[in-house]
Amino acid sequence: MSASNPSSVLPVDYWHRLDDGRIQCDMCPRFCKLRDGQQGLCFVRARQGDRMVLTTYGRSSGYCVDPIEKKPLNHFLPGTAVLSFGTAGCNLACKFCQNWDMSKARQMDVLADEASPETIARAAKALGCHSVAYTYNDPVIFMEYAVDVADACHEVGVRSVAVTAGYITEQPREVLYAHMDAANVDLKGFTEEFYYRLTGGHLQPVLDTLIYLKHHTQVWVELTTLLIPGHNDSEQELDQMTRWVVERLGPDVPMHFTAFHPDWKMTDTPPTPPATLSRARRIAIDNGVRYAYTGNVHDSRGGSTYCHHCGALLIERDWYVLGQWNLTAEGRCKACGTPCAGVFEARPGHWGARRQPVRLADFAA
Ligand code: SF4
Ligand SMILES: [Zn+2]
Repeated sequence: MSASNPSSVLPVDYWHRLDDGRIQCDMCPRFCKLRDGQQGLCFVRARQGDRMVLTTYGRSSGYCVDPIEKKPLNHFLPGTAVLSFGTAGCNLACKFCQNWDMSKARQMDVLADEASPETIARAAKALGCHSVAYTYNDPVIFMEYAVDVADACHEVGVRSVAVTAGYITEQPREVLYAHMDAANVDLKGFTEEFYYRLTGGHLQPVLDTLIYLKHHTQVWVELTTLLIPGHNDSEQELDQMTRWVVERLGPDVPMHFTAFHPDWKMTDTPPTPPATLSRARRIAIDNGVRYAYTGNVHDSRGGSTYCHHCGALLIERDWYVLGQWNLTAEGRCKACGTPCAGVFEARPGHWGARRQPVRLADFAA
């Protein structure tokens, strides 16, 4: 499909006209101010004439079945398969981007696959996926498509997962999350300086999203922080971040500390040592976070789930493969009966570590 095919262009809400004739997009705290024909920083929302449009409705950069632990979500349907897809563009400009081939795509050439929401739902169901994940880039910028896919998936009993930086304004935030069942939100650092210097965004809107999700929705939330040596991994920053999480979100929100690999505009920064991830996990637990994990490294202890009350091993993980399962059908610790926070089925899934690319055309009606 060519970039100009009208079927991928959808007029959208969340903008207003300025006195100087420009239109301001109010979807995310970037508040891009656009003249006719200009694209926003995210590349995929643009002004066409007197309106804002989403230029990538119904198009994706590819589909893949993954383990849900890879999103990462450790307390949402563990062991099950999730159908993952993304589009192009992003509303942050992280210098450390680990997905830049898609998120920085200005051209539509990465958007090889087109699929209606119904086709995606049909594929997810046929492939045995318990959920669909909006990932690789941020569903905030393709929200209208994500919401339609989520509705089609709910029709067939498949749930929806947003993998997001949480950089969204109040009104669309409510709309997006009314359709989501779970979210993994990046809390990329805990200083305004880090957000401003390395992502081009601001910290407070992300914190606002987290508070909204936790206190005003039923969405299951986990957090991910990519630890970048020398930038967001100090004892003090991690201490402040994890204290804030416990105080403002509560002790049951799982935190994932993942390893940075030199990429995009930060190729001179070394990869994160595994000891840094273990230290972050320890700081989180000491500050009252009940479920803290290391990620992107081989660390069975740091990847497994333990009962916060008696310390028993609840869900053993080796990379993305589940081992021992010591939860009751109701999601309680078999040793002491304490509930484990999360969304669990009576039995674990057994998708394992497989990553299976999918051709959506095979599932078209
Ligand atoms: S969604 Fe895109 S166009 Fe709208 S304010 Fe954010 S970056 Fe700009
Ligand atoms: Zn227990």
